[in-house]
Amino acid sequence: AVRVRFAPSPTGFLHLGGLRTALYNYIFAKKHQGSFILRLEDTDQTRLVPGAAENIEDMLEWAGVPPDESPRRGGPAGPYLQSQRLALYAQAAEALLRSGAAYLCFCSPQRLELLKKEALRNRQTPRYDNRCRSLSQAQVAQKLATDPKPAIRFRLDGEAPAFQDLVYGWNRHEVASVEGDPVILKSDGFPTYHLASVVDDHHMGISHVLRGSEWLVSTSKHLLLYQALGWQPPHFAHLPLLLNKDGSKLSKRQGDIFLEHFAATGFLPDALLDIITNCGSGFAENQMGRTLPELITQFDLSRVTCHSALLDLEKLPEFNRLHLCRLVGDETQRCQLVGQLQALVEEAFGRQLQDREVLDSAYVERIILLRQGHICRLQDLVSPAYSYLWTRPAVGRAQLGAISEKVDIIAKRVLGLLEGPGTNLTQDVLNGELKKLSDGLEGIKHSNMMKLLRVALSGQQQGPPVAEMMVSLGPKEVRERIQKFSR
Ligand code: GLU
Repeated sequence: AVRVRFAPSPTGFLHLGGLRTALYNYIFAKKHQGSFILRLEDTDQTRLVPGAAENIEDMLEWAGVPPDESPRRGGPAGPYLQSQRLALYAQAAEALLRSGAAYLCFCSPQRLELLKKEALRNRQTPRYDNRCRSLSQAQVAQKLATDPKPAIRFRLDGEAPAFQDLVYGWNRHEVASVEGDPVILKSDGFPTYHLASVVDDHHMGISHVLRGSEWLVSTSKHLLLYQALGWQPPHFAHLPLLLNKDGSKLSKRQGDIFLEHFAATGFLPDALLDIITNCGSGFAENQMGRTLPELITQFDLSRVTCHSALLDLEKLPEFNRLHLCRLVGDETQRCQLVGQLQALVEEAFGRQLQDREVLDSAYVERIILLRQGHICRLQDLVSPAYSYLWTRPAVGRAQLGAISEKVDIIAKRVLGLLEGPGTNLTQDVLNGELKKLSDGLEGIKHSNMMKLLRVALSGQQQGPPVAEMMVSLGPKEVRERIQKFSR
């Protein structure tokens, strides 16, 4: 059975890069009726960020790609927090010690620091000199007497195995000569990433490892660990990085790439999933507007290429607009949007709402139906340009009089227009009628009349077209706003 995992370290909140890795795992799992597992790699206790573990799981759920097994949900292969699995790592390290694939290392932090400094002084890559490899049994026993908690290092011997990556093809990375033998278990009993990742992928029955391409070079090392432990390794598929449009690192971008930020500013999860799958590979073609079920059926791992995915976040509003329209078209979803917009209106205009029935669901729904396609986010409907929808302007007669002396007659005629058949005027028809109306009035310029109506309806000099405002407000409310100017 297919079992995949997303294994972030809770050293930061979930961002778009992480979401993309999680999403590909999720899609791959669902495509093959498999399981998607969230494992938190919290072994570097010094780098933990408070709230990050909760945020990662919250945001995966918000995005619509919840794990089947996770720290919060539990599952048959738990616990899903590495800090709660220390016994398993110790067991594996013991087994490696017994077979001679690992050895105890008594080197002090000071000695390691010196080695590092010396290498840097000689412009070389710091490398452990494998000194403790050659300790005799007697020396080990002697050292254990004064240092009962040594670290454990993995003996990197022999040829690094080649492997076929499902994305990058045949790979082999020389590991032995580069950094020296790596620590797999620290003196405090915590594992390092390499051991923990291999032990967990094995015990959790992971069939495919889909992870960021930055881990490609570590894979040979992991394969040596599998070999030494006598375990069958999973398949590997490394995913190219998600970068900014200009090729710079996503994390270095100005502005926020954290999911929390997008959720708080009114972006839809579907828009995010869509944009991060539209900048890379894995699909026969790029195509805006795909939903998660479509992503699942259309995804093809063999179409993932080694090219980095370039993300153009300036296009996000457009992706959001598309998905917003789609949701509006679905009655259940639309109901939810109505509730969300009501909350937004209350938050933005609460004090000024007076007794108007603007929070009436039918009115709010009508506004959404009318304005969809013109807005990118629901939030846009509470921006200043749209405040006329929710609050009545405080406009005085004098203000209108300064625009045109013919306030009364204009008001009267517009009211006439809204009587009877006027109730169902569309924006186009209304525009024609308003033109006819000003043409029929002696000494009144059309543009002046429209300016006057705009101010009377919204209190603003600029904003959406007047006919649009009238259609949105509806004849009853337009009458209310204009009536007071007709004597
Ligand atoms: N904890 C690693 C990370 O933060 C996981 C790498 C892997 O998937 O093996 O990216």
